[in-house]
Amino acid sequence: MSDVVERFLRYVQIDSPSNPQNADHVPSNPQELHMASALGDDLRSIGCDDVVVDEHAYVTAGLSASAGAGGLPALGLIAHLDSSSDAPATSVRPHIVHYEGGDLVCGMHDGKRVSVSPSQLPALKKLVGQDIICSDGSTLLSADDKAGVAEICSLAARLKAQPQLAHPALKIAFVPDEEIGHGAALLDLERFGAAWAYTVDGEALGEFNWETFNASTASVCIRGIATHPGSAKGTMVNAITVAAQFQALVPAAERPENTEGREGFFHPMQIRGDVSHVQLNYILRDHDEALLARREGQLRSIAAFLNERHGANTVQVTIKEGYRNMAEVIKTKPFLVDYALEAHREAGVEPVVRPVRGGTDGSVLSFRGLPCPNIATGGYNFHSVREFIPVTSLEKTVDILEKLVAKFAAKPL
Ligand SMILES: [Zn+2]
Repeated sequence: MSDVVERFLRYVQIDSPSNPQNADHVPSNPQELHMASALGDDLRSIGCDDVVVDEHAYVTAGLSASAGAGGLPALGLIAHLDSSSDAPATSVRPHIVHYEGGDLVCGMHDGKRVSVSPSQLPALKKLVGQDIICSDGSTLLSADDKAGVAEICSLAARLKAQPQLAHPALKIAFVPDEEIGHGAALLDLERFGAAWAYTVDGEALGEFNWETFNASTASVCIRGIATHPGSAKGTMVNAITVAAQFQALVPAAERPENTEGREGFFHPMQIRGDVSHVQLNYILRDHDEALLARREGQLRSIAAFLNERHGANTVQVTIKEGYRNMAEVIKTKPFLVDYALEAHREAGVEPVVRPVRGGTDGSVLSFRGLPCPNIATGGYNFHSVREFIPVTSLEKTVDILEKLVAKFAAKPL
């Protein structure tokens, strides 16, 4: 069994789901501290320097540059040590399935096969003949992002064992609570000391991301006028009816279930209320900043239209900016993209550049001054009991990382 596979199988068996109900605390789940301390031990035994595991479950470490690369800026590698709690995420029991085509049977749950078919996931057709790591079907696998963690650790071990491999000083960070929106956002960048970095937190082998959505949230507050229903004529304004009108005026083609690729959307996330007050919350997403601003304007126009019909201040829209498309920052450092694409090809993997339909740790880090594109881990079906990762994808990703770090030692920037 290769080093990265051994590490991966071990890490997925350490429970560390983040807990959205406890998002005010970092880590949100004390189990993340166990994962952090296990990783601290591993980084020490690999021979990394300055290994720090802090009380918030952030793990940082350094690896000094190879001979001759000492004066170059340090390169960061980042993965998250929490797993999602969107699917059962404790007591993960990984096993290796030799996939011979047809349905990939991950395991059994409640007497039923948990499987993925090539019609659900056409990429399966390219994986025939491979060994694939799955959970037993009762939990997610947590390749998101323990594959990234294992790949970075395995790279560090390889670089230590083979001093002839060129690389600049490396700064490693494993962060908690990425799945609930903290992650690298709270990383002390000055202490971290990298000039640029990559997150290793993407999906299928070869996918490379340097664009994310721009994100904002819209909170729509609807104030109705409640009266006795028996004498409501001409007086009552039912906030529930107004909320339904509001949602009906949002373009139906621009919902998550109807969009893909670079198409943005309006997504109604939450509604609660009664006749006199409804709170309706949307998230808005677009890769294009101007189009996101237009979406925000559309919601304000809908509010204005309904206020004309039902009375001033019936509907109030409050917009809050979320994360932004990291492409704006990465564009200023095009070598971060070029090096990554070259490294893929040198490792024998044809890269596919894909705009992320979401955010990454890098969307926040890039705007905090650490430009940070995203490399794939090799996994599929994240946040699901059907999550899996091919053994060769884990191994190839370590090769890609080896080629990538060499770029930052070989070329002057
Ligand atoms: Zn992730």
